[in-house]
Amino acid sequence: MQWETVIGLEVHVQLATRSKIFSGASTAFGAEPNSQACAVDLGMPGVLPVLNEAAVAMAVQFGLGIHAEIPEVSVFDRKNYFYPDLPKGYQTSQMYHPIVGPGEVEITLDDGSIKAIRVHHAHLEEDAGKSLHEDFHGMTGIDLNRAGTPLLEIVSEPDMRSAKEAAAYLKAIHSIVTYLGISDGNMAEGSMRCDVNVSVRPKGQEAFGTRAEIKNVNSFRFVERAIAFEVERQVELLEDGGEVVQETRLFDPERDETRSMRTKEQANDYRYFPCPDLLPVMLDQAYVDHLRDNLPELPADKRARFQKALGLSAYDAGVLSASREMAEFFEQVKDVCGDAKQAANWVQGELAGALNREGLPIQNSPVSAPQLGELVARVIDDTINGKAAKQVFQALWNGEGGSADEVIEAKGLKQVTDTGAIEAMIDQVIADSPAQVAQYRDAEPDKRGKMIGYFVGQVMKASRGTANPQQVNGLLKEKLDALC
Ligand code: ADP
Ligand code: MG
Repeated sequence: MQWETVIGLEVHVQLATRSKIFSGASTAFGAEPNSQACAVDLGMPGVLPVLNEAAVAMAVQFGLGIHAEIPEVSVFDRKNYFYPDLPKGYQTSQMYHPIVGPGEVEITLDDGSIKAIRVHHAHLEEDAGKSLHEDFHGMTGIDLNRAGTPLLEIVSEPDMRSAKEAAAYLKAIHSIVTYLGISDGNMAEGSMRCDVNVSVRPKGQEAFGTRAEIKNVNSFRFVERAIAFEVERQVELLEDGGEVVQETRLFDPERDETRSMRTKEQANDYRYFPCPDLLPVMLDQAYVDHLRDNLPELPADKRARFQKALGLSAYDAGVLSASREMAEFFEQVKDVCGDAKQAANWVQGELAGALNREGLPIQNSPVSAPQLGELVARVIDDTINGKAAKQVFQALWNGEGGSADEVIEAKGLKQVTDTGAIEAMIDQVIADSPAQVAQYRDAEPDKRGKMIGYFVGQVMKASRGTANPQQVNGLLKEKLDALC
């Protein structure tokens, strides 16, 4: 039996407001526990929440970024449950009238094709506090600094069909919110986390299978691993004649497995009702239009422009538009060297390789975009050959010299294209290699092509890598063949 995986994601994005969604307390990360929780966040009697307009603007910007409907009215509801990190006894959320309606997020599949994942809606809500189990013996500490931090929960339709697609979708959301600047997207600090809904069905069957929901997965890699485990578990269960029960599970990265948390029978009844302390949010058209007019170019539009206007392949355009920093770096290199294809090759080749080896993000690259742009320009105008270009890159990376031109000058890497000078070096190499010349002469003519490599290497060495390799090749062949 062939099985098909069905996945839907609920992604929680922490919005980058300076203060909380309903109070003036700071949202800065890493402060002393409970130093950033005011009376509103603590759920003191008699206090009233005031909605943070910046959180509303950010939610609407996200909606516009995924071409979603933006309803005129949205409403906050109370989701009631009891837990120590929730002093109010309810979480303020939006259950029935979310701020962002249906939209779409594009993901790029392995073959370069694009798939649209539908977003059901996105709603605003507040985060809860944090329980600290490790620092206290026999007790649990509660840190309420995070309570009241604004979250945007983005709920997808069950449109993904593999762990890879789910990770690509999460990456696309990450890229949209960081392009928009509405979240720092820092998954290690919990700024983005998701609940992963997974089910399987026999291939060809229309009805969905029963799903399990894996809570609070906080890295791209964990999303893939949790899904892989869960699919295997469900398929095994079904093939053994069992049934999948609808339940909430936890992913344990140490053991690489998911474990049951609670089943549907144990599920909470949240008794949602509209929050009487908050007015419905009314958005007028002029406000939404203003936000729309001021949106930056988003990844999907950038990718399309890189392909259509700059002639990049779908793959290159996807990689180079994935983050705003990467896109800006690439465009600067391109502007300085004047060739998009070459700029793309250098950014994704030599530069990406060096950054990966050192574990550096592109914004901390030791080689700046203008430096790399000038280096690429010197390759294009034949001032240096490919081999010398790598030396120049390494020198810039090590901080030797301020610009590509300075390095080329200081190291004498200018390409030698003077035919007379190259011929002199060739004559010397031929004179110094009688045995190899004899071999060449005795070889079958169709084997000689391969044998010329030795001579090219010697001439390049004699020129300290600066001779033009095409010229060396052509002239060598002429001279050697003349000896045969
Ligand atoms: P609930 O109302 O119980 O929260 P929803 O219908 O809102 O459930 O769905 C929550 C999430 O689960 C959505 O992201 C949705 O796409 C996903 N989902 C729903 N049904 C399935 C299924 N059978 N398999 C995988 N994901 C599903
Ligand atoms: Mg739901």
